This record gives sequence, structure tokens and C-alpha cells, in this order.
Amino acid sequence: MMKKKISRRDFIKLSAGSTATLGLLLFKFPNFERLLAAAVSEVPVIWLQGGGCSGCSVSVLNSLSPKIQDVLVSQVIPGQHISLRFHPTVMAASGELAMQALDDTAMNPGGYLLVMEGTIATKDDGVYCELGERDGHGVTILEHITTFGRDAMAVIALGACATHGGIPAGSPNPTGSKGVMQVFEDYGINTPVINLPGCPPHPDWFIGTVASVLLGGLSSVEVDSMGRPVAFYGKLIHENCPRRAYFDEGKFAKKFSEPYCLYELGCKGPVTFADCPIRHWNSGTNWCVGASGPCIGCANMGFPDDVSPIMSLAPLYTVTPPSTLPPIDAEAEGLSAGEAATIGAVSGIAAGAAGATAVNLMRQRSKKEGESPGQEE
Ligand code: SF4
Ligand code: SF4
Repeated sequence: MMKKKISRRDFIKLSAGSTATLGLLLFKFPNFERLLAAAVSEVPVIWLQGGGCSGCSVSVLNSLSPKIQDVLVSQVIPGQHISLRFHPTVMAASGELAMQALDDTAMNPGGYLLVMEGTIATKDDGVYCELGERDGHGVTILEHITTFGRDAMAVIALGACATHGGIPAGSPNPTGSKGVMQVFEDYGINTPVINLPGCPPHPDWFIGTVASVLLGGLSSVEVDSMGRPVAFYGKLIHENCPRRAYFDEGKFAKKFSEPYCLYELGCKGPVTFADCPIRHWNSGTNWCVGASGPCIGCANMGFPDDVSPIMSLAPLYTVTPPSTLPPIDAEAEGLSAGEAATIGAVSGIAAGAAGATAVNLMRQRSKKEGESPGQEE
């Protein structure tokens, strides 16, 4: 790739954006100028933050393999990387310079990727969450996401708040908080949205999705009916949990120190789709159940309300010992033996208040060709 000579003006513009990450890591990069030069012509990214705690950014910045800075500003994928132009938490620029970087990037419709972190307040025209200002007036995140989201090549909704409202949208949701897909539906925006739920999401879920988009385009990311990449959200946590045998035997822990299934202590693994049991967190160190803590369903698209109370058995779900349940007729249901086994194992969990049982959802969905059993509806 040809190197591009950087003028002082280019440098300042890049510093407003690409150094969002490099601002923290500058001194670790002896080839800073070369990296900046490379960043000029690559896929620009706008990273907006709405209502939230910035925990998704913290999680993603913890990515070790590949490191986030490699994905954002160097060529960990030969010939491909992205250039982070705007990120409120870590960018070096502020004020008008930052807003200018945002506007400059958005001048190329369809030429940038938009990452949305945090919820979108919609009540009272979104006045409860503003990001930056123009002409002396605050700009709501609702205005940002509808303006920049409409022209983005795609939006990655990162974390529970951005995918479905998350904690800010918890009842009674005083700010009218919503996720990206819901806002796009309200405003008739057709930009593709990839949902990465989680509170926070695993860094691999973000890095892996971005890498797939760069390598194979948007169509290379297989998503389910909720826009979640199947590669990361295709299986119930319960399916891969090492304590699953205890669940099947009806051996439930009464306190956290016991090695048995944590269902009765509030584990939401049977209704949550994510690969935490096999991927683990903190570079493979451990995961929630591995640390004797129940899965709180943070990657569930209904988190937190649908899985509350978090640390005890949710009234929404009840458990029946698997041994008392009728057998699944795999042939009549049109299921593979593996699917029938999965359904049989979780069919003691009934979602009453939601109006449908978890097992019914699984049966309905598993009948649809090409879909895994048990996706949330
Ligand atoms: S209920 Fe939780 S602890 Fe028990 S097997 Fe399922 S995922 Fe594991
Ligand atoms: S195990 Fe459950 S609570 Fe823990 S990170 Fe995964 S989805 Fe979230």
C-alpha cells in the first residue's frame, strides 16, 4: 500500500479521531506517523455513546487478541483495518474539533461504519441525552443516531443499552429509552443493524464482528432474527454449561459455594444465548458460572426486566425436574436427536408472564429450517 504524506492539517484531523485510541497508547507506537498515514484511507468509524456507563467501551478496549488498536489503526488483517474518527470517551479532541471530525466523516454517505453504545432516549424529543452542541444548542443522541445512522453502511449496536434499551429502559423507563433497531423502525430507517447484546458485551463479539465485516462484507455475518451474529449468540449458555449434568439430575445448589447447578440461585443460562461457557472472559480466565455466580442473563435481549430479579429465581420462570416431563418425539416434531435432547433438558422452564413458554418458543423456532432451537422471540 502506498504511503500518503500527511500534512499538519491532516495530522490534526486524524488526531481528532484516529488517536481516540492511540491517545491512550501513543507512546507504545514507534511508527505513529505510519499508522496515521495508513488510517487516512481505511474504513472510518463513528462511535456514538448514548445513555450508559461506557462499560462496553471498557470491555472492548480490553481485547487482547487481536488488540483493539490493531483492529482500529494497524493492519492486523492485511490491507484492512478501520479508523476510529470519533469516540467521546477516549478521543483526544474535544469541542468544535471533535464535532468537526464527526461531521467530516459523515460527509461520505454509505462510506462509514457506525457503532452505537448506550441507549437512545426518545421521550420529549430525546432531551435527556445530548452529545456535543451546534450553534450553542445541545444535540440529542436521538438526532445523532437518526442523522448518522441513516447514511451509515451499517450500524453495530454494542451492548444491552444500544440493542434494546438495557438498564436505562428498565421499568418505568422514564426517558423513553430504546435500542437502535426500535428507533430505526420508528423513523423508517433501513440501515442494516448488527446487535451485540451484553452488559457488557465480550470484546471478541465486537472484534470478531468487525473483522468479519472487513474481510467478507456485511453479508458474511450470519445473524439470527434479532440481528445477533450466530457465531457468538447461536447457542444457549445452558447448552454448554459444565454444570448441565447437575441440572439434568435435579441437583441444585442452595448456596453459591456448592458445585451444583445454579438455577435455583437465579441462573438465567437456560434463557440466554451467548458463548460465555466456551469463550470465557478476561482472555479465557473464567466466566460467571465458572466463578460460582449465576448467569444474570446480561446478554438476553430482555435484560434486565425479563430476567429480574437478577440473583434469585425469576417469577417468570419455574423449573420442573426433567425426569417428570413427557419425552420429546423427535420425529413428530421434525427435530434432530440433538435438538430434541436440548429441548428435553430445558423444557422444565416455563415463561408464564411473557405469554409463551420457553419450550414452545424453542419448538416453534426449531421447526423453521436452518435455525437453531431456542432462539428468544
Ligand atoms: S441453569 Fe445455569 S448453572 Fe445450571 S446448567 Fe444451566 S447454565 Fe449451568
Ligand atoms: S454468563 Fe450470563 S451474565 Fe455472565 S457474561 Fe455471559 S451472558 Fe452475561
